[in-house]
Amino acid sequence: MHHSEKKIIKEIHINPDNCNGCRACEIACAAFHAKPKYSSFNPSRARIRMVINEINDEWVAIRSGSFSKTECKGRSRYIINGKEYSECSFCSTICPDRTIFKEPDSDLPLKCDMCGEDPEQIPMCVQICSRQALTYSYREDQVHMPEEKIGQDLETGLGALTEKYGLEKIKDAVGRMVKKNRF
Ligand code: SF4
Ligand code: SF4
Ligand code: SF4
Repeated sequence: MHHSEKKIIKEIHINPDNCNGCRACEIACAAFHAKPKYSSFNPSRARIRMVINEINDEWVAIRSGSFSKTECKGRSRYIINGKEYSECSFCSTICPDRTIFKEPDSDLPLKCDMCGEDPEQIPMCVQICSRQALTYSYREDQVHMPEEKIGQDLETGLGALTEKYGLEKIKDAVGRMVKKNRF
């Protein structure tokens, strides 16, 4: 049995040609998600990270996507206009093979949430980008999914985290974050 519903799809358009690597998007994201809001500006807590390689002229904004408990074995290496990019450059996965997109205290994944549900809310990284390297739009889409899949996403995410870090560590991390008023 399939369930069909209308969903808002939010999109961030990334134009690396316009980017100057200022990293304001990282700061804005980290500040917006700090608890209390705007109380800290630590880019290592950002859900968007600039992949910067000045020698290779590599300035690519990557937003974090799904969590994976294992790194992938087969990888893609892109060569664009004669420039070779490192193999994880364009990947948004929160994966054990990289240090970015993990909360520095707890190591828990930092997934981009598009700055909330409201489609009229322009994501903070887009708002701060003065170069039009990030722009925003949204559209309505019909989404089909098996009924049994509904509600499974959260369970799958928590299950993967528990398997990787152990239940005690997850409970610890959540407890510390609640204490520090991070939720
Ligand atoms: S704010 Fe815009 S110009 Fe600055 S690093 Fe981010 S994407 Fe690039
Ligand atoms: S960052 Fe992405 S491409 Fe690189 S190992 Fe992890 S999943 Fe694979
Ligand atoms: S959309 Fe929001 S949560 Fe996602 S990277 Fe941009 S500022 Fe961060």
